Amino acid sequence: MKLDVPTLFVAVTLLSLLTSLWVSVMAWGQPSRDALWAWAGALLAFCLGNMLFALQGQTSSALPLVGGNLLVSAALALMQLAVWRFQARRGLGMWALLPLALVPLFALLFMGQTRVLLGLFTLVFIVQIGLILGALVDPGQKQHGRGRYILLATLGTIALMLVARLVAVVLGWEAVSTGVELDQWQAMLFLLTLVAVTSVTLGFVYMTMERAELRNFELAMKDMLTGLSNRRAIGDQLHAAVARAQRQGQLLSVLMMDIDHFKRINDGYGHQAGDRVLHGIAQTLQSRLRAQDQIGRFGGEEFLVVLPDTGLDGALTLAEDLRAAVEATPTQWGVHRIEATISIGVRGGVITGADTADGLVGAADAAMYRAKAAGRNRVEH
Ligand code: GH3
Ligand code: MG
Ligand code: MG
Repeated sequence: MKLDVPTLFVAVTLLSLLTSLWVSVMAWGQPSRDALWAWAGALLAFCLGNMLFALQGQTSSALPLVGGNLLVSAALALMQLAVWRFQARRGLGMWALLPLALVPLFALLFMGQTRVLLGLFTLVFIVQIGLILGALVDPGQKQHGRGRYILLATLGTIALMLVARLVAVVLGWEAVSTGVELDQWQAMLFLLTLVAVTSVTLGFVYMTMERAELRNFELAMKDMLTGLSNRRAIGDQLHAAVARAQRQGQLLSVLMMDIDHFKRINDGYGHQAGDRVLHGIAQTLQSRLRAQDQIGRFGGEEFLVVLPDTGLDGALTLAEDLRAAVEATPTQWGVHRIEATISIGVRGGVITGADTADGLVGAADAAMYRAKAAGRNRVEH
């Protein structure tokens, strides 16, 4: 099979132009629009660079070689900007634009030495792709989603191929072509470009969609103030845990807790201080639970904890530990150390067919009110 170079050239140009347009359309109103705009710009720069390359051989000027490589380098810089914006890093520093600035500099210094220029430009692209790859595997970033794997695989492959090309250029293996020759080597290059442009764009767009989906999920299931499950989510988790315990005749315990005299904290230090205390107590509670335990914000300053595979004795021990931990962990608010305590009601034991999620919560709630009546900062069951 013989690949047709002009057809592939038109395909690459059209594809990068159109994907640039579609990504711009997608960016409209999207939470990650700034990142997507940068990506659309990268595709456009790439399209223009590709068109300039096509002029090679038809003109004796250096414009296609220098301009084409400059635009490809600009496309990579814009992709880097897109990833930076996606990760909400601080703006691209000047150092990130350094590789881009090197392209015209090298062109001036080594004008006419096509092999040297080819090697240097390849090196610039490798550095730029390396920076993007580095950001995508940065352990300091919250990395998630499968779109990232598509991007890593594609960019990683391109980087490896560029390294191979660099070695070939340095060792003088690669025949230096001055124009778009209708040969199979050029056709392969176009074909790979076609696949690469499609893959990286798919990966990046997918990354932004995955994150939007995750945000929506968190909005629906998480309490934004404390970061815990919200009432709906902890309710769902409790129903599932009760059903499981009933099927397998297992133990299950439920803790209902309420902050003592929380109104006084709000009245004494203000609502914002109250919010901070709520957040601090949520952290203290969560840090002491096992992986299979579930906690959620059940109401204003009430928390519900679900303890699978836990009988009354274990639940009472844990409740006492949580109560003591909250008492021992005041919240710093400016110069103030705000102390707070919680009262806990426990309902624990083997779950029978007669038990319901609401029944368990009601029993734990009743026990919690007994703890309040008995003086607060205590555990009742
Ligand atoms: P008790 O010991 O009987 O529980 O006394 P209390 O003052 O804590 O009484 P209660 O539990 O009824 O008080 C709930 C208060 O919590 C009332 C409300 O203003 C406050 N609150 C509820 N949600 C929030 C919130 O998100 N932030 C802040 N700052 N306060 C909240
Ligand atoms: Mg309270
Ligand atoms: Mg309350």
